[in-house]
Amino acid sequence: MIDTDELAERNAGFAGGGSFAGLRLMPSGGLTVVGCVDPRVDPSDVLGLRLGEAAVIRNVGGRVTPATLRTLRMLSEVLRARAGGPRPGDVHYAVLHHTDCGITDLAAFPELLADYFEVPAADLDAKAVADPVAAVRVDVDMLGQGLPAGVFVSGLVYDVATGLIDVVVPPARVAA
Ligand SMILES: [Zn+2]
Repeated sequence: MIDTDELAERNAGFAGGGSFAGLRLMPSGGLTVVGCVDPRVDPSDVLGLRLGEAAVIRNVGGRVTPATLRTLRMLSEVLRARAGGPRPGDVHYAVLHHTDCGITDLAAFPELLADYFEVPAADLDAKAVADPVAAVRVDVDMLGQGLPAGVFVSGLVYDVATGLIDVVVPPARVAA
């Protein structure tokens, strides 16, 4: 188990590196990633993101749920408050799903999934929980309905066996 002594030691190494200095709240890469909590799929590592480049939201499966959309709306307001207006330039929202995701084990708990997606249990098939490629398409559509026109949305599936991503849905602008 990693204890707080270990965390403090690692943090001292991080602080000594100085990569935190001067960063701003707004993601410097104009990127927001929605990904899974699985420890193997940290977007910063698998996508090579540097500190400050991207906002990352992680939940079970990296799914775009109503709660995810509410979080994104809150983040938009925070950024608006900090930047004094809409974010300048193009911004990109990437959904990152992965193979061997634990959410597939929840198929046996439809009531949990129905609560999570805020849909009737009878409608869960549409969420494609067992198929990351289908699910990432579903979630890109969900994002497109919840985000302002003009932003880019994409869908990626990461293969835990190869370490590689597949761009299932290339970045496309949300239509007005
Ligand atoms: Zn997962």
